[in-house]
Amino acid sequence: MKIGIDAGGTLIKIAILENDTFTYKKEKSTDIERVAAWLNTVPDAQVALTGGKATYLNSLISQDAFQSIEFDATFKGIQSFLDENNMHLDKFVFSNVGTGTSIHFVDENKQIRAGGTGAGGGMMMGLSYLLTGKEDFADIVATAKAGNRDIIDLKVKHIYKGDKTPIPGELTAANFGNVLHNKDTESFTDADKIASVLGIVGETVTTVSIHAAREFGAEYVVYIGSSFLDNKLLQDIVVNYTKLRNFKPYFIENGEYSGAVGTLRLM
Ligand code: ATP
Ligand code: MG
Repeated sequence: MKIGIDAGGTLIKIAILENDTFTYKKEKSTDIERVAAWLNTVPDAQVALTGGKATYLNSLISQDAFQSIEFDATFKGIQSFLDENNMHLDKFVFSNVGTGTSIHFVDENKQIRAGGTGAGGGMMMGLSYLLTGKEDFADIVATAKAGNRDIIDLKVKHIYKGDKTPIPGELTAANFGNVLHNKDTESFTDADKIASVLGIVGETVTTVSIHAAREFGAEYVVYIGSSFLDNKLLQDIVVNYTKLRNFKPYFIENGEYSGAVGTLRLM
């Protein structure tokens, strides 16, 4: 048995390879000792680690584990998922929306980090909590579905009020910029607030990603990371914003396991 593990800031992603088949599972990073205890029950497994908490996890386990750099592992995993999906891209940008967001150029067989942003899954969780007191990911995602961003976010068309706009009117001019215009006539629900949190996260991630794609001359932006898990609203925001800006978005199923699969492939 081979086990690839990406121990990130929030979640530990585990990819288990047995008989040429992967099975996937994830645990909270706060449960890292429990993951180590489980690994110690399978001492003969070949273990490959990556992610910010890999070295700590390595210190807790009995196996002589392989360790790789997170960015290389993630890229390797993305390549293997793209191959499986018969998606042949030789020049693209990938954006890993984890706790934070890391953005990379890919040219054939190498990745170079283009940059990142502090807007990501961690911001989604923290800002949602500050605004609504909710802290469960599934609850946050479910609540956002019924939200109305129009009373919170200011769009270009709101500023131009029917006049011809120099850029698409549907673009957000100011995230949260419509709040004070509506504060006396609207009440803002938890759903509205969280939908707007997903809005600022999704749009910031997309903006930074497409700027990287433009600088690099790439057509596609590949998005991965657990922030998109069962989170159709965030996916839609990113898809629509990427298309609105004339780039092509691509989501990889199980893409959040790219680091775990990749470090195992690099072993
Ligand atoms: P980083 O790569 O930045 O170190 P990470 O690898 O832990 O962090 P991911 O696992 O890709 O990051 O994504 C973490 C994000 O996924 C969280 O911030 C949250 O928005 C979201 N998420 C999805 N499922 C859960 C869950 N069950 N519990 C907590 N957060 C979740
Ligand atoms: Mg990660």
